Amino acid sequence: MSEDLSAYDAAWGRVRDRLRAEIGDAEFKSWLGPLHLCGVDHGKALIGAPTRFMGDWVRRHYLDRITALMVKECSDLGSVEITVKKAAERAPQRAAEAPRAAPAASASRKSAAPPGGGDVSAPLDPRFNFDNFVVGKSNEFAYAAARRVAEANHAPFNPLFLYGGVGLGKTHLMHAIAWHIRERHPNRRVIYLSAEKFMYQFIRALRYQDTMAFKDQFRSVDVLMIDDVQFISGRETTQEEFFHTFNALVDQNNQVVISADKSPSDLEGMEERLRSRLGWGLVADIHQTDYELRLSILANKADRLGAQVPQKVLEFLAHKITSNVRELEGALNRVVAHATLVGRDISLEATQEVLHDLLRANDRRVTIEEIQKQVAEHFNIRIADMHSARRARAVARPRQVAMYLAKQLTTRSLPEIGRKFGGRDHTTVMHAVRKIEELRATDPGFSEDVDLLRRMLEN
Ligand code: ADP
Ligand code: MG
Repeated sequence: MSEDLSAYDAAWGRVRDRLRAEIGDAEFKSWLGPLHLCGVDHGKALIGAPTRFMGDWVRRHYLDRITALMVKECSDLGSVEITVKKAAERAPQRAAEAPRAAPAASASRKSAAPPGGGDVSAPLDPRFNFDNFVVGKSNEFAYAAARRVAEANHAPFNPLFLYGGVGLGKTHLMHAIAWHIRERHPNRRVIYLSAEKFMYQFIRALRYQDTMAFKDQFRSVDVLMIDDVQFISGRETTQEEFFHTFNALVDQNNQVVISADKSPSDLEGMEERLRSRLGWGLVADIHQTDYELRLSILANKADRLGAQVPQKVLEFLAHKITSNVRELEGALNRVVAHATLVGRDISLEATQEVLHDLLRANDRRVTIEEIQKQVAEHFNIRIADMHSARRARAVARPRQVAMYLAKQLTTRSLPEIGRKFGGRDHTTVMHAVRKIEELRATDPGFSEDVDLLRRMLEN
């Protein structure tokens, strides 16, 4: 190791300033701020990170840039290595030799609590309560489970794991649970936060070497709710901490509520023991909405907005916007806002105009099931024959047409399409697509038929 680090320290200081300017204050503070120069060894600068997690991150994201800048600053340096070492571990005699060592010595930081770390719970949206949640077939199970948890004095199932696609009401239900409990039992500690925020808090605790407080904070709550847990997939250290927190709470029979976009067993990048643990309580999924539910949600929402929306418009929206509730609400908001602005009543024409772009995007989403149904009706065969092994021309041809249309009108891959047709191989689908293209080229009547089907499905 080199005798005097002061020249390198000065260089490191300039490199830090440069990096701060390049990546911005927030990012810098999280990742590069806690780094320090711990030594130089045979032309290699050793930069210490306080934890392995941070070291890995810095290596992956910033090492090249740090190396380039350091090498430019010091002509005798050839490389940079990131090691895991707390600033305090820097050899004391060297610190004495180089008085400009370790910026804002981290020893004083050790005991300081992370700033702004008061209430870890994220704010709750006042609209997200049980009263405003419209129940239908697709969400009744998740709703009932959420209510049970909210009303119970002892965790009825632990954890409650809610999952479903984007915008289908997971966050709404979690906030509703929190509201309900806070209202009835003001002294129970309920914490709701996103998995991302959890991760962020944890990393901050690591950085301030304050993981004890972090652990206490989470392990002393009555109800812990972590939203969108898929976001900690692939983050080993966070998963590890989450796993321990989770176990501690469940062992004490304190309620844990988790949400994700997939079922526990489908969560990729998640440690196996955590995945299986997440599925131990009650797993409740929220399905895609159906028309009835969309219509009641719209009616409910229009009511709350105090807007006069003709039934026809509500039906039109419920029919057209099938993606998720968030988009549905957004569409209604736009229609109402527009009408208020231009001072006119809401009409079907105005609605179509205002939502032009949105409607087009939703139009393109034809499902394979819809295609199968329409094609079966058109050729007068049973829908079941779309999946059956029967090879008679009278059913095989329509099946091929449906596969062809599925390829044309959806973004599904050949194997996915094959699966939806009674688990057929992707080569069968490919063959069907070619066959129909051939027939269309030689038989104008048939081609017209297929075009007609296509137009019907696109509308
Ligand atoms: P997720 O967390 O599943 O992505 P959110 O809970 O954020 O979805 O819901 C998206 C929007 O849709 C929110 O404004 C929410 O209030 C609304 N919403 C979802 N489901 C319902 C429902 N069943 N009744 C009323 N509003 C709903
Ligand atoms: Mg959500």
